[in-house]
Amino acid sequence: MTFSQGFLDTEATHLAHNYAPLPVVLARGEGSWVYDVDNRAYLDFLAGYSALNFGHQNPRLIAAARHQLETLTLTSRAFRSDRLAPYAEALTSLCGKESMLPMNTGAEAVETAIKIARKWGYVRKGVGPDRAKIIVSDGNFHGRTTTIVSFSSDDGARDGFGPYTPGFVSIPFGNAAALEAAIDDDTVAFLLEPIQGEAGVILPPDGWLRDVRRICSDSNVLMVADEIQSGLGRTGATFACDLEEVTPDIYILGKALGGGILPVSAVVADWDIMGVLSPGQHGSTFGGNPLAAAVGLEVVKMLNEGEIQARTVELGTIFADGLASIAAESQAIADIRIRGLWAGVDIAAVGPTGKEVATRLASNGVLAKETHGQTIRFSPPLTISRIDLALGLERIAQSLD
Ligand SMILES: *Cc1c(COP(=O)(O)O)cnc(C)c1O
Repeated sequence: MTFSQGFLDTEATHLAHNYAPLPVVLARGEGSWVYDVDNRAYLDFLAGYSALNFGHQNPRLIAAARHQLETLTLTSRAFRSDRLAPYAEALTSLCGKESMLPMNTGAEAVETAIKIARKWGYVRKGVGPDRAKIIVSDGNFHGRTTTIVSFSSDDGARDGFGPYTPGFVSIPFGNAAALEAAIDDDTVAFLLEPIQGEAGVILPPDGWLRDVRRICSDSNVLMVADEIQSGLGRTGATFACDLEEVTPDIYILGKALGGGILPVSAVVADWDIMGVLSPGQHGSTFGGNPLAAAVGLEVVKMLNEGEIQARTVELGTIFADGLASIAAESQAIADIRIRGLWAGVDIAAVGPTGKEVATRLASNGVLAKETHGQTIRFSPPLTISRIDLALGLERIAQSLD
């Protein structure tokens, strides 16, 4: 009998069943390691779906949060705080943009970008009232709100939650010709993930982002990059759009922006776009609060130093080589897609299910989660040591044996 069982029973009785987590009850974390209530150690190879890019209990982030926690935590935007302006200045500079709008969760930031793009369409592009159209990609994941699930192609995410918000059309991911064909006079934006995370780390064809940039510019359509999961170092670049030297019109950021401590998200754009909003048209009680701003500022400072991106490139190569040699030995892997420290590993249909592999991984001391049945997504903290990465690879090999 372990301590875990009591928590599992209580959860089953009192917690909504909108998740099916592994039966691991975590109590403590440090760096790339987490420990359960029975004090078993695991390598965290999910890292909060990239919310923990800087690891658990990152000393710099915890220090910034602790200082702010004991100073000022919430003002609401009715007043100003001395934390928000420096954070806004640093984040916009990281993005090479003029302005930012702070929110909390990723889905809220996506909703915010949708509102801004629609308003921009009406006041700048001259689209007729209520006609704005936004193009999205099949297999997208942008969050869980009613509007966002309206354009999801995942039946589980969408079914039973209608009526759906109109104004979206979906095209195949990574298909520039389909984008060109879908654009008409009412199109205000193309909302995209540069790499599809929840779909299983799906990489678009080379050159697609550059094509998207050109098509959007030529047709006066906003290129809106949801870099909530792909951004902030995960791929080895600050933003996945950097991999093709492309700058979107709007960045949507979240997850790692909160340093694994609290939800922090943002929309970042130049004034010709952000300027369509006036006081009273959008907001959030907690968005840009001093605690969030202090943590977000420290995250941006770490990214500005560039060291984390450089080591992600280096460790990403080790990770890619390691996974490739596991695949060469094992019949269990059908495909691997990887950028930086972000990998989607498809488990062969003949072998164990994705869930079985995730369960085996956990019993071998590696936490990861399957997505869409047969894909395991690995996204260890970018701060992981070489030794721990090697150990993780060893345990992955064991679990696929
Ligand atoms: C996680 C995620 C979101 C939603 O973020 P939440 O904080 O869970 O609302 C949106 N877009 C992408 C690409 C994500 O990975």
